[in-house]
Amino acid sequence: FKEFEVKNEPVRAYAKGSKEREELDEEIQKLSNTETCIPIVIGDQEITTRDYGYQLVPHCHSHKLAKYYKADSKTIQRAICAALDKQVEWDRMPVSDRIDIFLKAADLLAGKYRTQLVAATMLGQSKTPYEAEIDAGCELPDFMRFHAYFLNDILKYRPISIEGVTRNSNRLRGLDGFVAAISPFNFTAIAGNLAYTPALCGNTVLWKPSHQAVLSNYIIFRAMTEAGVPRGVVNFIPSEGSLFGDRTTACACLGAINFTGSNEVFRHLWGQVGKNITKLNTFPRLLGECGGKNFHFVHPSANMCNVLATTIKSAFEYSGQKCSACSRLYVPECMWSELKSELVRETNSLITGDVQDPNTFTGAVVDKLAYDKIVKAIQSAKINKKMEIIAGGDYNDHVGYFVCPTVIETKDPLDRLMKEEIFGPVLMVYVYKDSEVKKTLELVRTTVPYALTGSIFAEDEKFICEALFELKYAAGNMYLNSKSTGAVVGQQPFGGGKLSGTNDKPGGPHYVLRFLSMQALKQDL
Ligand code: GLU
Repeated sequence: FKEFEVKNEPVRAYAKGSKEREELDEEIQKLSNTETCIPIVIGDQEITTRDYGYQLVPHCHSHKLAKYYKADSKTIQRAICAALDKQVEWDRMPVSDRIDIFLKAADLLAGKYRTQLVAATMLGQSKTPYEAEIDAGCELPDFMRFHAYFLNDILKYRPISIEGVTRNSNRLRGLDGFVAAISPFNFTAIAGNLAYTPALCGNTVLWKPSHQAVLSNYIIFRAMTEAGVPRGVVNFIPSEGSLFGDRTTACACLGAINFTGSNEVFRHLWGQVGKNITKLNTFPRLLGECGGKNFHFVHPSANMCNVLATTIKSAFEYSGQKCSACSRLYVPECMWSELKSELVRETNSLITGDVQDPNTFTGAVVDKLAYDKIVKAIQSAKINKKMEIIAGGDYNDHVGYFVCPTVIETKDPLDRLMKEEIFGPVLMVYVYKDSEVKKTLELVRTTVPYALTGSIFAEDEKFICEALFELKYAAGNMYLNSKSTGAVVGQQPFGGGKLSGTNDKPGGPHYVLRFLSMQALKQDL
C-alpha cells in the first residue's frame, strides 16, 4: 500500500472581477458558442448513430448546448462485450497503480478541467457558480481522492497467520461481471463517482449518463481517459434509460447496478434483476440512492435565525433539486408568527433567473417534465382548502423553466404534498401545537416512506437525545442545528434507508467494499 494524505478541495469564490471569474466567463462563452457533439464511446471507438438528442440549457431552452448520440440495443450489447473483454487486464493491474491513475485524474479535474466542468454544469444543469463549484469543482475530485484513500486503507488489513503452520492473505478482486452505472442530472460529482469508483476497485463499467447532464459527464470521461484510465474500462453509453436498464439487467454477466435517480426507476431495475435472476451468473450488487422527503424539525428551544437561514438554503438552493433538500418543515405554534414573516420576506426576495447573473439565487428547473410536475403540485395547493401558499407560487416557462421558491402552509400533515417527493423549490410547513412535540416527532417518522436526510433544531440537550432516539431510522444523514443538504466527502458519508435507497455511503470508508469481492487465500506451510 501507499502512504498519502487526503483533504477536501478548497472552494473557489469566482468573485466578480477576479481572474478565476474571468476564466469562468470565457469557458461559458466558449461552450455557449459551440454545439458540442457527444459520441457513444466503447473501448477506443467513438460511435455515432441515427438516433440522437439534444441537451438544452434549462434557463434558456431554445439554446442547444450539446448533441448526443443514443446507443441502441445492439450497441449496448457491444459495450457489455467490450467491458467484459477488458476486465481481466484491468483487474490484474496492481491496486496501487490504479490508485495513482485516480489521484492524477482528481488533479486534472480539480485543475486543468475545473473551470470548463463548472461552466458545463452551470449551463447544462442550471447551477449558479457556487452550486456548480461545490459539486463539479470540489466534490468530484474529493470522491476520487477519498475513495482511493479508503481503498488503500483496506490494503493495510492483514489476516492472522499462524507461524510455521498457515499463511493467510486476501486478494481484493473486482466483482465477477460488469457494472452498470446509471447517473442523475443533479450532481456532476455523483455522476462521475457512480462510474469511476467501481473502476477504481477493479471493475469495468458501462456508464449511462443522464441526457440533461451529458456534456459535463463527457468532460469527466475525457479527463479520466487523459489521466490514464485505459480505454474500455469505462464505456460512455448515452441511451434511453429503460432500454439500457432492460438490456443490462438481462445480461448473465451483470456484476452490479450503481444507480442514483428516482425511486420508481430503481424499483423497476430491482424487479428486472429479480425477474431475470435464474439467468444471471451471480447475485448482482444493487446500489441505489433514490430520493427523499426530508424534514427540518423545529423544537421550541431552537434558535430561530438559524432555522430561517438553513431552511431557506436547504429548501431552495438549486431549486430544491437535491435528494437531500428539505421539503417538510415542522414548527411549533409559539415560534410561527415571527418565523413566518421572516420566511415569507426572505423567500419572496430570492431571485430566480439566469445563473450567470450574479444576483440570481437559483436557476431554472431541469426540463419541461420537472417543470410540469412542480407546477402541478403548486396548482393543487392553490385549490386545496387546507393549504395556503404564503410565499412564491409563481412560475413561467417562456424562456427557461423557472419556478419561484414557494412556501405552502398546510393544516393536514398527512396530505400528499407532505408525503411525495416534488424535487423542486417547494417547502411544505406544518405548524404543530406546542404541547404536541412527541406526537409531531412521530409524524416526522411515520408520514413518509423515505429516510434520507433530516435536521433537528433545538438547544435543549435532553430533547435532542430523545429526538435522536425517536428518529433513529428516519434519516441516513441526520443533522443537528444544521441544514439537511451539503454532505461533504470524508466528513458526512451520504445515503439513506427505507425507500431512499441502499445506504451505501459514498464519501465514507465502506463504500469501496461494495465494488470488491475479496478472495481469502490460505496456504499450509
Ligand atoms: N449529497 C448531496 C447533499 O448532501 C445530495 C445528493 C443528491 O441529491 O443525490 O446535499
